[in-house]
Amino acid sequence: MTLFARIPKVDKILEWDGTKVLLGVHPRPTVLNAVRSVLDAFRTAARNGSLREEELLEAAVTSRIEREVARSTAFSLRRVVNGTGVVIHTNLGRSPLSKRVKPILDEIAFGYSNLEFDLDRGERGSRYSHVERLICELTGAEAALVVNNNAAAVLLALSALAAGKEVIVSRGELVEIGGSFRIPDVMGQGGAILREVGTTNRTHPRDYRQAVTPETALLLKVHSSNFAVVGFTAEVSAAELVAIGKEHSVPVMADIGSGCLLDLSPFGIRGEPTVQEFVKAGVDVITFSGDKLLGGPQAGIIVGRREFIAPLTKHPLLRALRIDKLTLAALEGTLRLFRDERQALAEIPTLRMLTASAAELATRARSFARRIRRASPPDIRLTLTSGISQVGGGAYPLLELPTTLMAVEADGISPQEMEIRLRGMEIPVTGRIHRGRFLLDVRTLQDDDIPFIAAALSSLAG
Ligand SMILES: *Cc1c(COP(=O)(O)O)cnc(C)c1O
Repeated sequence: MTLFARIPKVDKILEWDGTKVLLGVHPRPTVLNAVRSVLDAFRTAARNGSLREEELLEAAVTSRIEREVARSTAFSLRRVVNGTGVVIHTNLGRSPLSKRVKPILDEIAFGYSNLEFDLDRGERGSRYSHVERLICELTGAEAALVVNNNAAAVLLALSALAAGKEVIVSRGELVEIGGSFRIPDVMGQGGAILREVGTTNRTHPRDYRQAVTPETALLLKVHSSNFAVVGFTAEVSAAELVAIGKEHSVPVMADIGSGCLLDLSPFGIRGEPTVQEFVKAGVDVITFSGDKLLGGPQAGIIVGRREFIAPLTKHPLLRALRIDKLTLAALEGTLRLFRDERQALAEIPTLRMLTASAAELATRARSFARRIRRASPPDIRLTLTSGISQVGGGAYPLLELPTTLMAVEADGISPQEMEIRLRGMEIPVTGRIHRGRFLLDVRTLQDDDIPFIAAALSSLAG
């Protein structure tokens, strides 16, 4: 009898004790799907000659079905341990929220709220009103509006202020952010006509001045975010652009990307302009993300002069780009922390991680390493070494933050294999490989990640 013929039939498998146990816990279709997918895998393996006889024993088949059921019933979106050292990691959910927003999130998520109900007047209200005053207070702007993300903010602003008209942008600022957000494409979607000026490395005030026509709706400045132009360069500052805009009665818009509300230069993080600086410079419309340097939920925040924000609130696109109530709750909770700078730095994880000093990280690394060593088998070796972490999220592409790394080594397991196995855990542990070692950067590890790392390393040895 060939191996193919010995693959057990579905009916037979359903009579096994192990399968009956699964059927007692999971819905029948879940178990049946798992059985069929395991049998499919057997048939494929049998066809290409890689199936081994012992794989078809009842115990082996049952445990494979169990694993398949576990895989198919696990959450797809899960917590992940970020040991990469990239603080605003777009693939890993960008900014973790402050624990301080938990109570309000809980209340809004599981109950009714005044999302669109004006409690004073007892009539329909606006969801956008909840954070507008707070954003204005923090940024010094006259008006504010929040949408789904910064890409939406830019699209909405261009659609409402420049559809069918020209928008002047420097060639050095025609950026692509990850996930196919490209300024020229967004411009097209917004119905605006792109007027490129200057060159990739140098753009001067006269370039803007010469390009202004009666068809010009906006002068747009875009933060380069995820790349840097170095060497022989020149760009026109926000203040200069505002002056040019005034000369020609054309409003100025800036997409500043990361939405930094605090001056981080005392922590060695220089060069990222704050939202307040753009407001002060007189820029009419400013857009930024809620989940980059702001450290809040995914959101797009638009601030500026009331006369230019008002058309956005009336534009039909706003309904399609509107912010959700959970996001609003998390955003209000995060923004409130910025009323006290020290509180923001201490309570917002993104800012806390970014501003952690090398000495603080070294101390934390020793404590983490002690806890992990205590909980993991002796054949896992953990050594501390100094290294560099990155901001991520399209902010400060050249900045290198000194940190402490935990190098993990285990006999007989290559760093590549270790990376794959740690990534395959129920709570996946991510890190990076450098010079033949698997590394976990302490900067992005949370206190409550440590038990998961210890468990993952233990199962590695087992
Ligand atoms: C990140 C970024 C965006 C996109 O913001 P999202 O919130 O991810 O939609 C747009 N413009 C700039 C300059 C950025 O840095």
